[in-house]
Amino acid sequence: MVFVEEKIIENATAVYNGKSDLLGLDQKGLADFFVSIGEKPFRSTQVMKWIHQFGISDFDEMTNLSKALREKLKFRAIIRTPKIIAEQKSSDGTIKWLLEVDQKNSIEVVFIPEKERGTLCISSQVGCALDCSFCATGKQGFNRNLQNWEIIAQMWVANKALGCKPKEQRIISNVVFMGMGEPLLNVTHTFPSARILMDDNAYGLSKRRVTISSSGVVPAINRIKDSLDVSLAISLHAPNNKLRDEIVPINQRYPLEELMPALFNYVESGHSKRHVTVEYVMLDKINDRIEHAQQLIKLLKDLPCKINLIPFNVFVGTSYIRSSNNAIRRFQDLLIKAGLICTIRRTRGDDIDAACGQLAGKVKDKTKRTLQAVQVK
Ligand code: SAH
Ligand code: SF4
Repeated sequence: MVFVEEKIIENATAVYNGKSDLLGLDQKGLADFFVSIGEKPFRSTQVMKWIHQFGISDFDEMTNLSKALREKLKFRAIIRTPKIIAEQKSSDGTIKWLLEVDQKNSIEVVFIPEKERGTLCISSQVGCALDCSFCATGKQGFNRNLQNWEIIAQMWVANKALGCKPKEQRIISNVVFMGMGEPLLNVTHTFPSARILMDDNAYGLSKRRVTISSSGVVPAINRIKDSLDVSLAISLHAPNNKLRDEIVPINQRYPLEELMPALFNYVESGHSKRHVTVEYVMLDKINDRIEHAQQLIKLLKDLPCKINLIPFNVFVGTSYIRSSNNAIRRFQDLLIKAGLICTIRRTRGDDIDAACGQLAGKVKDKTKRTLQAVQVK
């Protein structure tokens, strides 16, 4: 397998018609922008509040900025937001939006309301190159990384669609990078977006409420440890390399011997106590047998983690079958008896294809798929 690492760019700024796009810039990126146009860096705080806390994208409405500065901003900057081209509502209240990010591509964003919280599931790439065998996004191919403004725009647009200003009312209390794509192959744009979600001048979510989900890009997991205090979920799905190589092909590049130490490192390096959420999709007769549970117990017994069993969600073209409820419960019991924390994820939004692994959006140009991330020889 040949693997092309992401070349990470610090503070990447999107430019549109010669104007800097401010939506995706974190505090430092915004401050740098203001300095670059001869203004004081503290302007970043004011503008960040307008954009993210009040949902304002028109500089003329930013009334605590002088008229001269507003004119300058109109000339030098832009706040672009994608269009919602479809909205679907599930019988369980889950909402899925299709957002147009360019003329060829659209992505899906899902809002899952619960009693105690509202979770937004956001995308980090148009499609995904990693081709996990049980995932609709992977099966559909890869086109490109989303830019930072396109990632945070999902939060911005969802708040608008739900009719709330985050400053006054918080409907979205949690954000998970579990939509389309592999966020840790797009660190350049994922990390600033996560910082904006956690910034008190923007959405102010605590690090427990922002979760990056990854299939196991080890160098980027190590990077989280140093530069981003955020929650981490790992899509493990198999307890040994042989099976994981098959169903989560990135394992061929970063096998369990490399992934597990990276997870221990992540847990130990946090400012406060950390744990990892381990995701495990339940595939009938593939990874749900007693021996798999026993291997998983051995693998995870010393790692501070919570295991989340995900009943497999079917999609057109898959030959996998969801494990029976009995098999899922038996698996959970074995893990709990061994002293692990293990929950079963409740399936939400599957009647509108909004459940885990069902997101597909529209990816019209799939030709770059194997070139950009993983090539299997
Ligand atoms: N690429 C990242 C994040 C997006 S996938 C990752 O793999 O973690 C979000 C979660 O949905 C992952 O745990 C993924 O393995 C899971 N998933 C993918 N396809 C699924 C399916 N058909 N049914 C249930 N879960 C699925
Ligand atoms: Fe990509 Fe995650 Fe789907 Fe695997 S499970 S193909 S990494 S989106």
